[in-house]
Amino acid sequence: MDMSVFDLFKIGIGPSSSHTVGPMVAARRFLLEAGALDDAVGVEAHLYGSLALTGIGHATDKAVILGLMGETPQDIDPDAVEDKLAEAELDGVLKLLGTQEVPFTQRENLVWHKASTLPEHPNGMRFVLKLRDGSLIERVYYSVGGGFITAAGESQARAAAAPSIEVPFPFSTMADLLALGQQHGLSIPHMLRANELARMSGDELDAGLDRIWNVMRDCIAHGLVTEGQLPGGLNVKRRAARLWKQAHCDAGTRLNELPHDATHHVTLYAMAVNEENAAGGRVVTAPTNGAAGIIPAVLRYYAEDCRPIDQAGGIRDFLLTSAAIGMLCKKNASISGAEVGCQGEVGVACAMAAAGLVAALGGSNERIENAAEIGIEHHLGMTCDPIGGLVQIPCIERNGMGAIKAITAASLALKGDGTHFVSLDNVIETMRQTGADMQVKYKETSLGGLAVHVITVNHAAC
Ligand code: SF4
Repeated sequence: MDMSVFDLFKIGIGPSSSHTVGPMVAARRFLLEAGALDDAVGVEAHLYGSLALTGIGHATDKAVILGLMGETPQDIDPDAVEDKLAEAELDGVLKLLGTQEVPFTQRENLVWHKASTLPEHPNGMRFVLKLRDGSLIERVYYSVGGGFITAAGESQARAAAAPSIEVPFPFSTMADLLALGQQHGLSIPHMLRANELARMSGDELDAGLDRIWNVMRDCIAHGLVTEGQLPGGLNVKRRAARLWKQAHCDAGTRLNELPHDATHHVTLYAMAVNEENAAGGRVVTAPTNGAAGIIPAVLRYYAEDCRPIDQAGGIRDFLLTSAAIGMLCKKNASISGAEVGCQGEVGVACAMAAAGLVAALGGSNERIENAAEIGIEHHLGMTCDPIGGLVQIPCIERNGMGAIKAITAASLALKGDGTHFVSLDNVIETMRQTGADMQVKYKETSLGGLAVHVITVNHAAC
């Protein structure tokens, strides 16, 4: 598996990993690869398929412009975004990678191709750099989910090439991982750690994992105290902070003594993250932005409610194990809503969280597999139909539900004996085939499902 835990968990910016993070990275990469910026007199960005259909709601336009300016998702200050964009639009000028100025307006230089799709993936982009001598440099990129990007032809070329780093426990399926675990008497998080140590030192790995958890924790904390309305025009009010405050005001009253309050808190953690994401805040892609709330919510549940003895070690095992499940889903199916629907985003995040929780609580490899399998199985067929192309409805609540399902899946697996009917590999393949059979309108186009019916109802009400 030529993937690292830090490919799955990336610190970035909302609202979408495939429609915001990926396009920002692609735009910057295009200019870095094109070179010749001293001779540049213009630049164009063309967006295709799902990027064109839901790009406005997912801030793809802003992401592309920021990427052309040289910004990166991990380093950009979310609070400075609007000022930077307003300044560029007002001047009608873009500073390519912060250096070479070229004329640029969104109306003329950013082109939405809603009726066309590029051949390799529904999220296609074509960038054109115009040079002083009249020649053009042109390249195509794809945002393939979870903030991953590929240049045209690159995924096939990569697949044909040998893995760039040799790891001690190579795996392509869960069956491989289980067999390796049995052969060497090792747990899944132990093997994942060993694989990461082929890329970096133990200190670097632990510091990186701790940083991921810190950003996740800060994101929950910020979301739990931030009220107001989310951007985008749907007038969706943030709920996590109000409900969190209410839960604490009610402390000691009968209302707060209900046994399901712990699950209510987990739901709010997940919603807090996804409200931050919808507002363009700092989040960790896990494995996508639309599904970014589930893993942090279940991790905080683990850290606060499960009373772990070695909390730091448990959190690292959690993240390593989650990453293993995300890698399998990405390699053997997809984590892109535009490719397989929401089963590949919220479904995969649920499976990752469930497996991570089992690992952190010391469950066997078989129980880890069982939890992940349950997590995906009960999201099979789930479509992606965000209203108004915004990562808000159903996405925010859906993360709350996904987090609860992950805990239930982990609990079922931990209390079982590890034997189960459906293997994780089978359920991942089922997800892939279901996604392939799913009508395009249910795959992050906002042309079907809730996205259409709610708008129809609202119009009828008017
Ligand atoms: S419906 Fe699911 S896949 Fe689609 S944007 Fe929302 S979270 Fe992502």
